Amino acid sequence: MTNGPPIVLVVAGNDPSGGAGIGADIQAITAAGAHPAPVITALTVQDTVNASAVEPVPPRLVADQMRAVLADVPVAAVKIGLLATAGIAAAVAAVLETWPDTPLVLDPVLVAAGGARLSEEALVDVLLDRLCPRTTLLTPNAHEIRRLAPDEADGDARARRLLARGCRWVLAKGGDEAGDEIVNRLYGGGAEPHVLRWPRLPGAFHGSGCTLASACAARLALGDDVPAAVAAGQALTQRWLAAAFTPGRGQSIPLRRP
Ligand code: PLP
Repeated sequence: MTNGPPIVLVVAGNDPSGGAGIGADIQAITAAGAHPAPVITALTVQDTVNASAVEPVPPRLVADQMRAVLADVPVAAVKIGLLATAGIAAAVAAVLETWPDTPLVLDPVLVAAGGARLSEEALVDVLLDRLCPRTTLLTPNAHEIRRLAPDEADGDARARRLLARGCRWVLAKGGDEAGDEIVNRLYGGGAEPHVLRWPRLPGAFHGSGCTLASACAARLALGDDVPAAVAAGQALTQRWLAAAFTPGRGQSIPLRRP
């Protein structure tokens, strides 16, 4: 227990534009009412248009950061974003295997909002083999879910494949599909997914995936169950996206405020 807000251990990469990555996570977790404990996995060179370089932190240093926090403060939820390399993912998985009960939100980040690759190819196997079995809520977008379940014919089958891999819930996000509405589907609680529909806001956003996953992790830390955390996380994200600002030449940044 803590006498302050519940703590979310957030393991992610830095985006120096502050739109996505661990800066986005810190803002979203704070605005949603929890306290972020940030563990940096990688530096990126990035602006609001796209990323041009990724420099991973040594895996041992990522694991040591996590262990220092976990040994000291009561972590109520864990949120994972960019892991960048298979070595970092394996080190993170090894730490989490010794903390089996803390809810984990895994955003399987593979590319930047602008399309640049942020993760090495070999990361996908570690996500599937080591992290999916430990995941409470996986939040892939349409591109990521195709990469994680490439042999399945449609979105339903892909999400069910990832449940079979051990994720307790899968939020399959439709933001990068066409259409006036964004249709997100939450799989895991029964035969039929919960279908969550949102009007598509005009413009392109930087960090919407990080923001949603972090808001969900904060709500789990505050005691929500997964469907309630996802509903609340989506409502917060929609509000922050509606208030987004455009500080540079590229995508808009969600205004993550309480
Ligand atoms: N993490 C880092 C460090 C990033 O730079 C990015 C994208 O640029 C992401 C995660 C994913 O961003 P989004 O929330 O837009 O999917």
